[in-house]
Amino acid sequence: MSPRVPVRPDLQLLEGYHSPQVDVEVRLNANESPLAPPEAWLADLRQELGRIAFNRYPDRGAFALRAALGELHQVEPERIFCANGSNEVLQCLLLAYGGPGRRAALFEPTYSLHRHIAMLTGTDVVSAGRTAGFELDLPAVDALLHTHQPVITFLCSPNNPTGLAESPATVAHVLSQAPGLVVVDEAYGELAPTSALSLGAPPVPAVSVPEALAEDAASRLVAVRTFSKTWSMAACRLGYLVADPEVVQACEGTALPYHLDAFTQAAGRLALRHVDAMHERVALLIEQRGRLAAALAELPVETWPSQANFVLFRPLSVDAHQVWERLLAQSVLVRDCSTWRGLPGCLRVTVGTPEENDRFVAALRRSLQEDP
Ligand SMILES: *Cc1c(COP(=O)(O)O)cnc(C)c1O
Repeated sequence: MSPRVPVRPDLQLLEGYHSPQVDVEVRLNANESPLAPPEAWLADLRQELGRIAFNRYPDRGAFALRAALGELHQVEPERIFCANGSNEVLQCLLLAYGGPGRRAALFEPTYSLHRHIAMLTGTDVVSAGRTAGFELDLPAVDALLHTHQPVITFLCSPNNPTGLAESPATVAHVLSQAPGLVVVDEAYGELAPTSALSLGAPPVPAVSVPEALAEDAASRLVAVRTFSKTWSMAACRLGYLVADPEVVQACEGTALPYHLDAFTQAAGRLALRHVDAMHERVALLIEQRGRLAAALAELPVETWPSQANFVLFRPLSVDAHQVWERLLAQSVLVRDCSTWRGLPGCLRVTVGTPEENDRFVAALRRSLQEDP
């Protein structure tokens, strides 16, 4: 018997977040890294495991991890908040600043979890579309912000699932128009040529942007990052934000006590000893992304330029969902975005290893034929 207790009425309207976890040989659907983490990191972690006091609660403030991240980004640890994946970071932000009667703004197509988590927290969502090339439509952005006065404005740079990063000038423009926080989701930030982090959150000494932000704007800028993609650590669930210390305190107020376990804290802290290995992986992915884009250019698909570890494409000769199914039949899993807002007929493929990319291209070539 099912419990005859109705769930929150506003949740009944909400679709779940589905990324099917199917058993396939070539998994290119979730933008994970195709590579295992560095052996040296694993060795560090094995050693550390013996030092964890498993009978005790973990360090609630995650101080050692935040100190290491602070060193990486050249900011004080007080500007860093860590949580179980960047999705929990986003949830804490929305719990702290969203809620009933408040609005979050976003620009679709973009990462669907921004809308989803906003709605879970009872935050109203207002949105505007993008240009045909999936860039921000700045007049539409300005109009949305002025009309709705959102407490949070989400940007995603590079944008998932379309691929382009926002320039620092664009982020600065949005900050100048937005009344509240501007949250830049940089899940793929290590792959992009620019980062909102370069704008500061002062004091960031490595500011390379000519137009340093006014203090008010800088204090409203939040950059969100994750270990799930370029760090090859999706299994660990670790993300963080860099922001004004007041934002960090607000997020700490909404997280559950001891939400970040000792193992994850150690895993993240030790990963930062292997920044060079991470950069090597990023270089490999960028090279493979180029190969993938070149191969797609030869096929009957429309594609968009990407500064991340995935490529969005639209089959021109065969229905997108049918292509997705034909790829799956060849044990290649990509993301079917064709029912997402603003992405009719689109699929997204994650950049894999050279062998995986070859298999994908061969399978796609077959799938795009009239009679495969
Ligand atoms: C993959 C992804 C994340 C990662 O979320 P985690 O909870 O850190 O695994 C966040 N934002 C975007 C835009 C992503 O594509």
